[in-house]
Amino acid sequence: MRNCFALLLLLAAPNFARAQFPDTLFVVHCEFQKASPQAWLDLRAMVNDANARNVKLSIELGHSWVDVALANAPFAADINIWRQQGHALGAHHHGVTHPDFDGYTDTLLPARVGDMTAFKEKMETLLGELQFGGLDEAETDWPCLVPMRTMGGIGSVNIVSEPSFATVNHYPVWQISHMYIQNIAEIILLKNAHQNALSSQVVGAVTHVWNYAADPALCTDWWDYLLSIDPLGVNNKTVPGVLALQTPALASSHTLINASSGEQLKLTINTQYLFPNQPYHILFSASGVDVGYDLAGSGTDSIHLSLNIDRLTRKSYLSPNSLVFYDTAGNLDATGVAEGQLVGLGALAARLSGRTISAQALVMNIAGDIDLVSNVASIIIIP
Ligand SMILES: [Zn+2]
Repeated sequence: MRNCFALLLLLAAPNFARAQFPDTLFVVHCEFQKASPQAWLDLRAMVNDANARNVKLSIELGHSWVDVALANAPFAADINIWRQQGHALGAHHHGVTHPDFDGYTDTLLPARVGDMTAFKEKMETLLGELQFGGLDEAETDWPCLVPMRTMGGIGSVNIVSEPSFATVNHYPVWQISHMYIQNIAEIILLKNAHQNALSSQVVGAVTHVWNYAADPALCTDWWDYLLSIDPLGVNNKTVPGVLALQTPALASSHTLINASSGEQLKLTINTQYLFPNQPYHILFSASGVDVGYDLAGSGTDSIHLSLNIDRLTRKSYLSPNSLVFYDTAGNLDATGVAEGQLVGLGALAARLSGRTISAQALVMNIAGDIDLVSNVASIIIIP
């Protein structure tokens, strides 16, 4: 009888049945075609409303918002203030098939403003290193070395997801989903999903600054609910808060390596089962200039050059004159993983002391084409 009574209590009060609620994510799209000083003030009000409820926002800026911020010092100063408050800043891009194409694409169009490398560089003038984005036409436009992706749109199928690993335009990303909320009736879908999701799942929402400005209750109704359940906002996270701790495609055992002690370096490629048994290369380069090695036709330089022709590794070397001094290869195992030691560092160490080694993995397919261009693992050589 006691068990039946307890069961009735659980059914009557689902809140008390939860050991732990899922993490939640709130993404803000700042549409490039809506950027203006007034829109920035609307975004600022939105952030303040979130702060009052311990809610952290993941703010994805269209490129023209960079122009608005850089033209107004107090706006540009908001970036660091918001980060100190726990919010995160990323990018938002509309591709060529979007009704409001933002002008940047890797598709060769005469009318384009620039390619996606130019888009990323523009975003980074305001934000520093770009960590995440909600970027259209991702299969062709995803830029090199942006490790985290938000995705999803209209429809409740997009509300609940778990971090997943994927290669997008050859680049590894960890991705998470969100649902676009546009009217207050949809908040009930978020609340239901939040009550029913597993603690390993993430409940994601996205809306525009202009949706908030038209009716702040669209956001504050949901945020008030989160505040009532989680007053300190422990389970309320940003995109990096949810995804940054996931395993990168290439990880190094050290970020600092001691040259005099002959320390060895272990590197792990992990493609999360995507490329079982496929061949890989790990390329290494060192920062700085090495006369006689750079872009002058040596064997290793030819690897460097051929990779740079398609710009796939454009950002992977800290200087265009970096020396590629080592290339190791093998096959991934049946789970898409490989581990290797970098040996022979001792002979190079004295010359490399104080410099940064960058390592990057490539995974090929049977035809010899590149399936994956990993993140860059950076290791500083200390004397
Ligand atoms: Zn958009």
